[in-house]
Amino acid sequence: MDEAGLQAALAQLAQDHERTRRGVAELQQQFETLIEIMIAFGTLRPGHADLIAKLRQRVEIARRAPVELSSVEDKHTVTGEPIDCESRLSLCQARCCSFTVQLSRQDLEEGELTWEIDQPYRLPRLADGYCVNLDRGEGGCQRYEHRPATCRSYSCRSDKRVWLDFDARIPAPMPPTLIALDRLTRRDR
Ligand code: SF4
Ligand code: SF4
Repeated sequence: MDEAGLQAALAQLAQDHERTRRGVAELQQQFETLIEIMIAFGTLRPGHADLIAKLRQRVEIARRAPVELSSVEDKHTVTGEPIDCESRLSLCQARCCSFTVQLSRQDLEEGELTWEIDQPYRLPRLADGYCVNLDRGEGGCQRYEHRPATCRSYSCRSDKRVWLDFDARIPAPMPPTLIALDRLTRRDR
């Protein structure tokens, strides 16, 4: 993507964000009106006030969706510990590629990676819980040359989400939200 394309994408993102912000504000207004009507009719019970306060808090958090951006300046200089991924895939199920990864300004400028529209700028995950860039058949990263700094520096050796014992090759239990990719046979990382 060239600079003009990147600017157009950012402008579109800003427009989408503004539309979402206005939509949430409108919903909040409707919600407040509904609460006032319910209070007027006496349909709220003791304890409902706490629930309403929590809902208001959630709406406020949603309105302030933070932008997450990695501060790594040049990911192409980032390296990590070599891991024998290929021989471990049947055990780890590539679960490192289900973790949250933030993009950097460099990633955005290169324009080679997509991000979650409503969670800028995280790598998108699909319904199976894995990063959009994971090759579901082979287990490799389909954007290997462009992968973010976090993916380049990550080592699962001491990550208790992945291994109960790395050296003994004993994996931690799979998270219930993640679909195991048993068909993975090869992964270059
Ligand atoms: S880095 Fe990822 S794919 Fe490689 S062994 Fe660790 S969890 Fe598995
Ligand atoms: S970009 Fe590649 S290495 Fe990084 S999480 Fe996604 S599939 Fe895994």
